[in-house]
Amino acid sequence: MTAKPQYLTGDIAAINEFIDQFDVFLLDCDGVLWSGDHVFEGIPETIKLLQSKGKRTVFVTNNSTKSREEYLKKFTKLNIPSTVEDIFGSAYSASIYISRILQLPPGKSKVFVIGEIGIEKELDSENVPHIGGTDPELRRDITPADFEGLANGSLLDPEVGVVLAGLDFHFNYLKMAHGFHYLKRGAKFLATNIDSTLPMHHDFFLGAGSSMAPLVTAWGQPPLALGKPSQAMLDAVEGKFQLDRSRTCMIGDRLNTDIKFGVDGKLGGTLHVQTGVDKKEAWEKEDAIAVPRFYVEKLSDLLLAKE
Ligand code: PLP
Ligand code: CA
Repeated sequence: MTAKPQYLTGDIAAINEFIDQFDVFLLDCDGVLWSGDHVFEGIPETIKLLQSKGKRTVFVTNNSTKSREEYLKKFTKLNIPSTVEDIFGSAYSASIYISRILQLPPGKSKVFVIGEIGIEKELDSENVPHIGGTDPELRRDITPADFEGLANGSLLDPEVGVVLAGLDFHFNYLKMAHGFHYLKRGAKFLATNIDSTLPMHHDFFLGAGSSMAPLVTAWGQPPLALGKPSQAMLDAVEGKFQLDRSRTCMIGDRLNTDIKFGVDGKLGGTLHVQTGVDKKEAWEKEDAIAVPRFYVEKLSDLLLAKE
C-alpha cells in the first residue's frame, strides 16, 4: 500500500520541510510552468526562490519538437531563469542514447527521423547523421514508383541503422512506409516519447504516440521510448547532473509520464500539481499507475516558504 500523498498547499512548515529535503528539482514544463504560451502566475518567482535556496532546477520535457536552444528562448520570453545546460528534452535524451549508448554496427550510423526540427537539431548537437525529418521530399503523396522503390530497396539509404520517431505534424503514408521498410531491414526502433495526447488551448490533440501509431501497428512492436517515464532518460539526467536520487524530487502534472518517472526511478520525492493534464482523482483511484509523495494545487504555492 502506497502512503497517502502529503498536501503542502497553505502549510508553511510542511513546505519548508519539503524544500529542505531536496538538492535537485526535476521540473516538467507544460502543465507545471506554463500552458502553451501562457506562463502560470508566480512561476518565475518560484523558480528564483528554489535557486536562491541553492537548489538545482532541471527542466525535463517530453516535447521533442523544440531543441534545448529553442526551449531556452521560451524560458527567457516567459522570464523563467534557466540555461541550455539545465534543459533536458526527449529529443536530446534520444540523441545522447544513440550517440553514447547504442552500439550501431559499422556502416549503420544514420538515423531516419519521423518528427520535427527539434529532433534534427539535437541529433546535430551529438554529431549523429540523419535523414528524413523535415525533408520536403517526404511531405508528399506516395506514388506507384515509391512503392516499387521501397520494396526493392532502391529508395532506401543502406546506412540507416535507427528509426527515431517523435511528434510529427506532417506524418503521412510515405514517411511511415520508409520507417517500416527500414525496420524490416534491421533498423532499431526508438521514440523520443510516446505521449498519446498533446495538451493545447485547454484541449487535447494527437501526441507523439498517436502520430507514430501506424508504424507501431505495422511493425507489431512498440519503440524504445527515451522520454519520461523511460528510465533511460533518468539515467542520462543522472549521468549529466551527478544527482543523488534520494535528494531529488520530480515535479509534474501527468501520472503516466512524470510521476511514474520519479517513482520508478526511486527518487526521494514526487510532487503532483493540479494545473495540467491529471488531477488528484487520477491517483486516488485504486488502479492508479503511480502515486506521488506530495501534492499542491499549483507550483507557486511553494512561494509561502519565502515568508
Ligand atoms: N510533446 C509536445 C510536442 C508538446 O508540445 C508537449 C507540451 O507542450 C509535450 C510533449 C509534453 O511536454 P511536457 O513533458 O513538458 O509536459
Ligand atoms: Ca506536463
